[in-house]
Amino acid sequence: MVEPAGPLRYVSTRGGGVPRRFTEILLEGLAPDGGLYVPETVPVVGPDELEAWRDLGYPALAVEIIRRFADDIPHEALALMIEATYDAARFGSPEITPLLPLEPGLALLRLSNGPTLAFKDIALQLLGRLFEWALARRGERLNILGATSGDTGSAAEHAMLGRQGIRVFMLSPHGRMSPFQRAQMYGLDDPAIFNIAIEGTFDDCQALVKTVSADADFKRRHRIGTVNSINWARLAAQIVYYFKGWFAATRAGAEAISFAVPTGNFGNICAGHVARSMGLPIRRLVLATNENDGLDRFFRTGRHAPEARARATSSPSMDIAIASNFERFLFDLVGRDPAACRRLVEAGAFDLAATPWHDKLAGFGFVSGRSTHADRIRTIRRAWTDWGVELDPHSADAVGVAGRHRQKGETLLCLETALPAKFEAVMTEALGRKPARPAGFDGIEDRPQHVTKMPPDLGRLEDFIATHDRG
Ligand SMILES: *Cc1c(COP(=O)(O)O)cnc(C)c1O
Repeated sequence: MVEPAGPLRYVSTRGGGVPRRFTEILLEGLAPDGGLYVPETVPVVGPDELEAWRDLGYPALAVEIIRRFADDIPHEALALMIEATYDAARFGSPEITPLLPLEPGLALLRLSNGPTLAFKDIALQLLGRLFEWALARRGERLNILGATSGDTGSAAEHAMLGRQGIRVFMLSPHGRMSPFQRAQMYGLDDPAIFNIAIEGTFDDCQALVKTVSADADFKRRHRIGTVNSINWARLAAQIVYYFKGWFAATRAGAEAISFAVPTGNFGNICAGHVARSMGLPIRRLVLATNENDGLDRFFRTGRHAPEARARATSSPSMDIAIASNFERFLFDLVGRDPAACRRLVEAGAFDLAATPWHDKLAGFGFVSGRSTHADRIRTIRRAWTDWGVELDPHSADAVGVAGRHRQKGETLLCLETALPAKFEAVMTEALGRKPARPAGFDGIEDRPQHVTKMPPDLGRLEDFIATHDRG
């Protein structure tokens, strides 16, 4: 492989600040200029090295990939954290992300057999350990404040559970999550986990988090941090399964490989884009949206005109109007020119046709499609009758859109991002019965729940955090 010139440094997509190392950006959100951190140069994996990685188990492959990005964590420490995270008991199989062939040219890459049954576990389980390690080294502690409409909250809580120096304050909209999702979060009984049900919508929860985070004094005093999807460490952890899936499919004889990704905040598919930039031979990245289709419209037309607010749909974890990771792709699209990136982001809406980058878009291998409620239901039914597979609504969006993009000689790997058990109402509408539940999840709705109900009131929330922040 081509050895990097020196230590890897991270820069802002908007060009501000000084380049920083991985452990310096690990616990942070946005760069100080409002941009997102990206590696100054993406580590490249040559064909020989790629072949040498082919037979590595998931943890060993993860070490090889993640150490290129986290090159200021001592190798031994990093390897121990990765091996402790990706173990068969926690993720249901030694493959961690097993590949399930559906029919010739189509397969499901299963990413959702972690503790909370959503792919977010893959990155967040590692993030919990990385945070704990970084905090211990600095002699610091952290109060994680987040807002969730479902998957992120439970994945974050289960990832931070038992991690030294970390408390979690998670806001969720009262009465608006599925009973299963509520049980996954509120069922946790731990002195460092605080579930707060806000009498309002998810937007109210998110607004509260933003306001607290903007209160610099409170934030510093109470060591407030986040685990949102713009964290580079999350992205780095997600790159691994693109390699893993590619190896599994090519071992089974596939030649050209593409991925279909159900997309909300553009985190998952951004990891695929980075894997491709590293040299993994991914032919195409098929981006699937639900009815919140701003990204689909962009990749089809070159016009970016996101809606102001997301619509509520039956694939709720993709109900996002403005995708927070998209700026990382824009940065690459404009040839990594931070001034150009900033101009586009600040414009909000723009048409690539009026820019020098219009002809560049095709070179990044993206195609896209939109999936509606009716599409989703039809795909769930078809997956059951044709393949005997239960697909959750989000994975169904990917499989449905993938179906419109099939090409001869190509194998499409559709990313499964959650298990159907989390979305019983939609599954029952599609299949006329409740979906299967993995072992250990029976009757979780009946367990005692731990949650504090609160109006959407900043003063009340800050008081609650201050009272429970006894570090
Ligand atoms: C978060 C999530 C997505 C969207 O992933 P992004 O990285 O935000 O694009 C899709 N499906 C499920 C089940 C999710 O939880």
